[in-house]
Amino acid sequence: MPLFATDALLPDGWASDVVLDWDAAGMLRSVARDMAQPRGMPAAPGPVIPGMPNLHSHAFQRAFAGLTEVRGPIDAGEREDSFWTWRERMYAYALAVTPPMLEAIATHLYVRMLQGGYTSVCEFHYVHNNVDGRRYADDATMSRALLVAARRAGIGLTLLPVLYQHNGFGGVAPRAEQRRFVRDVDGVLALVEAMRYAVAGPRERVGFAAHSLRAVAPEALARALDALRAIDATMPIHVHIAEQRREVDECVAALGQRPVAWLVDHVAVDAHWCLVHATHMDDAECAAAAKTGAVAGLCPTTEANLGDGTFDLARWRGAGGAWGLGSDSHVCVDAALEIAMLEYGQRLASGRRNVGADRREPWVATAMTTAAVAGGARASGRDVGGLAVGASADFAVLDDRHPALAGLEAPAIHSAAVFASDRANAIRDVYVGGERRIHDGRHSMQDAADAAFIGARRALATAAERQ
Ligand SMILES: [Zn+2]
Repeated sequence: MPLFATDALLPDGWASDVVLDWDAAGMLRSVARDMAQPRGMPAAPGPVIPGMPNLHSHAFQRAFAGLTEVRGPIDAGEREDSFWTWRERMYAYALAVTPPMLEAIATHLYVRMLQGGYTSVCEFHYVHNNVDGRRYADDATMSRALLVAARRAGIGLTLLPVLYQHNGFGGVAPRAEQRRFVRDVDGVLALVEAMRYAVAGPRERVGFAAHSLRAVAPEALARALDALRAIDATMPIHVHIAEQRREVDECVAALGQRPVAWLVDHVAVDAHWCLVHATHMDDAECAAAAKTGAVAGLCPTTEANLGDGTFDLARWRGAGGAWGLGSDSHVCVDAALEIAMLEYGQRLASGRRNVGADRREPWVATAMTTAAVAGGARASGRDVGGLAVGASADFAVLDDRHPALAGLEAPAIHSAAVFASDRANAIRDVYVGGERRIHDGRHSMQDAADAAFIGARRALATAAERQ
């Protein structure tokens, strides 16, 4: 079913009078500009922007978003609340979440993602084992809950089963609280294989993630990568790389190098890699990592929420680095707000404005959206890189009835949606693979998904408090 758009954001900028047409699989087969609206062809009710691939998600964490914003008893070796004290709360929820809870939380989350302009998601999934630390009878039980949720919501999915082995550099034994995450290389490879059989069609893919250099030893990482590359040479590979200063210091002590430097020196990092939270890099690391083609996975609201630090976007772009956006812990599930947060962080750190714009595209919202869609697509390992022939027909229609957007031209409408919509949803319709999943701001299973989430969160919070 083709669609006419008076304004559409294509990979090379805003275009007028665009006809989008896609095949039965939901892949774009033509994108034609400067067309007269063909008789009978429906028109998008506002400017069309590409769907944003969300390159980093831990779905279960949505269940305690907002609940850790309270000063806690200080533990985890910290004198103040920090990422490390937050992690203790996260463990309590991870220990208590059941497969039905995970499916309910993820279904609700993915519906919200669609409303927030995300059309696909990379699940960095590490809660594999049963609550006692043993495998489920079907080892892929938790992974399948995420796949079911993605299908119910109608969002694209790149599932990344995570290798997690240790509680710190040097092969420190895992803690009891990490028992649901832990597995050996063969165990994670078997999970990858199982899920490769489970996924189907262009909306689903399986990749791999190493949790972090602190949780995966160098030999295990090398062995896993060798095996995975033999299975699929273009499989997306993600890693949490340099989120916290403490882990950078520990990495230097254990491996003799900072994490990004160690990774690019010891592993064949390439454009199929996503370096999540590449927050703490020195100039040499930035130059070397950008040159590999790896995507920097930025999660601005989560990184702010956890006090991680500020990613230097100008330096990364200056080195030619690709980047994309993730909602990670889901304190915010809105692609526009992630863009605003990223840009504001740059402004606060640098004293400059419009850091995300570039010579070709002066509008910050448009330049950053275009860059994040391209980087997010690469990190997803799927054809979701914007409105171009061969890509999935994933897009959002902005709501120009919103008072902040009404009466403006397309680039200004987009800018207002990102910087001036006051968190009221400025997205009207969202399509994934040519199917309209959000219509006039709502998903067809909105109420049921929200109700199931609220029930699951209540049960999970109760169980987590007992941990
Ligand atoms: Zn993460």
